[in-house]
Amino acid sequence: MELLLATENEGKIREIKEMLKGLNINILLLKDFPGLPKIKEEGATFRENAIHKAKEFSELTGKISLADDSGLEVEALGNKPGVYSARFAGEEASDEENNCKLLKLLGDLPLARRKARFRCVMAIVDPQGRIEVTEGKCSGLIGFKPQGEFGFGYDSLFIIPDYNRTFGQLSPSIKNELSHRSQALKKMRKVLEEMIEGVDKDAVGK
Ligand code: IMP
Repeated sequence: MELLLATENEGKIREIKEMLKGLNINILLLKDFPGLPKIKEEGATFRENAIHKAKEFSELTGKISLADDSGLEVEALGNKPGVYSARFAGEEASDEENNCKLLKLLGDLPLARRKARFRCVMAIVDPQGRIEVTEGKCSGLIGFKPQGEFGFGYDSLFIIPDYNRTFGQLSPSIKNELSHRSQALKKMRKVLEEMIEGVDKDAVGK
């Protein structure tokens, strides 16, 4: 079965590919379809954005598409940056700029008041219009400075209390066990297995 990963975020692509290992899926990327337009993320929720991206790219390419809309919610900031996580410090902001803004806003707030969670909504849409959605969450604390080189986005600030390490310091395999993305994708695995079975049956019937 072919599955288009409807994202340009290299960090997400790396993690989703790793998590899909073992499934009989041929992964396609947006760069395999030159000339695709940029899809605007204007929804008020992760769910809206994820469904919108998966639907648009499925219609544009005719492929089953999987989109991930995710972000960071910081309790002390009223759950910001949320859906604005990628562009917290401005439209084309780098991860470093976003992290800097977050640290500035939190100032010297003590660690116990720096609670945050990553959220991920995954949507799969097929060309017939079937829509499947799952969610995952992962709780942690925002540190006082970036630590670690692994991952992307806010990983170097996001401390997993059980390990007393940021996602940036933990190996990718540990992040892929714990993360919001892996929780959402684990729930999606059953849907994907069903879809693969359906494609295999069609192929035998032909
Ligand atoms: P999206 O492309 O609108 O879903 O933006 C997702 C943004 O949320 C990323 O650019 C990161 O800033 C942040 N984010 C989502 N997932 C992660 C993660 O696993 N680690 C670190 N940052 C993340």
